[in-house]
Amino acid sequence: ISKSDSQLIVMHEFAADMYHHILLNTEEGQAALDYLENRGFTRELIEKYRIGWSLPEWNYMATALQRKGFSEEELTASGLAIQREQGNGYFDRFRGRIMYPIMNESGKTIAFSGRVLENTKQEAKYMNSPESPIFQKSQVLYNVNHARGAIRKNRKIVLFEGFMDVIAASKAGVENGLATMGTSLTAQHIRAMKRFAQEAVICFDGDDAGWEAAKRAAIALNEENFKVEVAVLPGKMDPDDYVRENGSEAFKDQIIGKPHAFIAFAMMHARRHKNFQYENDLLQYIQEVLQLLAGRSSSIERDLYIKQLSNETGLSEEAILQHYRKLENKSIERSRPPKEQPVNTQPAKRSP
Ligand code: ATP
Ligand code: MN
Ligand code: MN
Ligand code: MN
Repeated sequence: ISKSDSQLIVMHEFAADMYHHILLNTEEGQAALDYLENRGFTRELIEKYRIGWSLPEWNYMATALQRKGFSEEELTASGLAIQREQGNGYFDRFRGRIMYPIMNESGKTIAFSGRVLENTKQEAKYMNSPESPIFQKSQVLYNVNHARGAIRKNRKIVLFEGFMDVIAASKAGVENGLATMGTSLTAQHIRAMKRFAQEAVICFDGDDAGWEAAKRAAIALNEENFKVEVAVLPGKMDPDDYVRENGSEAFKDQIIGKPHAFIAFAMMHARRHKNFQYENDLLQYIQEVLQLLAGRSSSIERDLYIKQLSNETGLSEEAILQHYRKLENKSIERSRPPKEQPVNTQPAKRSP
């Protein structure tokens, strides 16, 4: 780690302490503290995740950092302050937001995500630090510092969509949770995960965006030889909503404790928004599932899911198997070209 990198970490640690202090010990932090309490955050959780509050002032943090002796270059490099376009001086990137420090494996703060108190159309709900020499979104997994031990013990990672879900899961007693920082899962994330476990349970939001992202993450992990399962939430809930509504035990037993095997999930995904009274939907469903099966080798799985397909659709197993064999031959032909290709897991674009 270079000298300038460690300076950036010192700045982030300083900022994290200050935001945390303002939240917990000042009158200005009270509204944010009330908000967190409303969302079910305990004092213990706030401390564990070092949550804070950034004052709604133009350059509170920039001034504090300069007073500590950090240079203007360091100020902009950290992403904590932004240089004014006209005239001189700097203003704070994070103003009037609940501050969630993003920590590296050793628990040092390398970036922040800031959330507005109230959702409005004008401002993005979350704002993250920009990329910097110490923060690469395509690599960082939220909560690795806390989760490492629990992951090794469970031999399993639970992957969430948002870091709020990681915190909610921890509150519920699920300590092996990780999340990306709002991007989809990259090959680099997966490489980092592999150092800790070979199994993953994906538990994303129950809305359409969550289902799509879960499918992409499941495919990417499966291709990298993870044993993949997917825990599905009812309705459009996310794990945080679910824990608040149904409690920790239900979350652990009914959701995290009852995940679907990769193919079973993919079948559920393929069935979504389809109506089997329409021939097209039915045929498309069978095609999707068989294509998925053709990419895999286990004959037990093949038999199991072809039986299930037959039950669901009323078509004979023989007919489905015949179609499967055609696809399988094609997939063998296709699988000849070289393997080393980047996994495409581009996120659905968010509004900035
Ligand atoms: P909350 O419960 O506070 O509303 P959430 O975790 O449910 O938050 P989602 O909208 O489900 O938020 O988004 C999941 C993740 O995507 C967030 O944790 C965050 O990392 C990222 N994200 C969401 N909205 C934005 C945004 N406007 N800008 C950048 N990242 C975002
Ligand atoms: Mn979501
Ligand atoms: Mn969510
Ligand atoms: Mn949420």
